[in-house]
Amino acid sequence: MKKILLTFDYEIYFDGANHFNKLIEHTSRLLDVAFSRKAKLVFFIDILYLVKLEESGQTDAFENVKKQVLQMGEQGHEIQLHYHPHWINAKHDRETDSWTFDRTEYSFSGMIEKYGTQAAISQFNTANSKFIEYFGISSSAFRAGGLSIQNNQDTLIGLLLDNRYIYDSSVMPGLRMKGKYIENDHSGSPGKSGWLIDKKSGFFSETGSGPQVLREIPVMTVKAHTINPLKRVLASLEYRLNGIFSKAPPIRKESGKPIDLEVKESSYPLTITFDKSNLRDIILLKHYSIAYLERNDIMCMLSHPKSFLEPSFFLFDKYLKWVNKQPGLSFAGFNDLN
Ligand SMILES: [Zn+2]
Repeated sequence: MKKILLTFDYEIYFDGANHFNKLIEHTSRLLDVAFSRKAKLVFFIDILYLVKLEESGQTDAFENVKKQVLQMGEQGHEIQLHYHPHWINAKHDRETDSWTFDRTEYSFSGMIEKYGTQAAISQFNTANSKFIEYFGISSSAFRAGGLSIQNNQDTLIGLLLDNRYIYDSSVMPGLRMKGKYIENDHSGSPGKSGWLIDKKSGFFSETGSGPQVLREIPVMTVKAHTINPLKRVLASLEYRLNGIFSKAPPIRKESGKPIDLEVKESSYPLTITFDKSNLRDIILLKHYSIAYLERNDIMCMLSHPKSFLEPSFFLFDKYLKWVNKQPGLSFAGFNDLN
């Protein structure tokens, strides 16, 4: 059985707007779609956003967001920890209902550079205990904000192991990104659907062994040229027909910044998400899935409820329906991997 992990980073945008209502609404629609197709999803919860909602006295928002996360678990989905340290010192302005934060505190290593290793470790531990306090369970899989794990890898891996994490899912093979506050190079990572890592080998190589290791489940990337051109055309036609007979909503732009960080250079293989669904995502999704699963036994898709547009819900539903019809494919969470 080949496993499909559909992971969603549950968070608001990095632009400071306090869009928790949109997050709740989009996620609620996603949960409805997943329920009707009996699909299991994984949500990486931006835990420090909840901590900040609570601390800043936004009780209703905090309670509603927390309630939704608990509901995910009740409906059989998996919740795991997503860590964006820029929230630690974020301040909320009531009048404009917006957040201000220091963008240099974006990553774990950014925190180390600014406040030192011990402070960064202690902040992480606090975030991890908040996850347990709010949701009553421990997280077994970790995803770093912005997939920013390049620097201070040994410290971060040590911290995850100390907190009994089993999986990391912060690597996107082939990713190279350079911006004002972020610099990632995941291009040297193994092109596999999982590998073992330890403090010494780091996130991007596979030499880990023994009991003190993490299993890496990378975010799926696929090279576009691996898809047969005829299949692309057929998929495109199929989508159009679906649109005619099922009243697919039109694609339209919504507010919200598509790129959260000021990335100046970026090059990576195509990553399939439902974010801001565009035609490329739509027509190729199923074929990417097949191409990927032909070579790997696990597919891990990354997406964001915040970025779903009207057609995204429609397409996601179609995709789940398609997976259900494929013999040998099944939805899974990290805790279902062995
Ligand atoms: Zn994030």
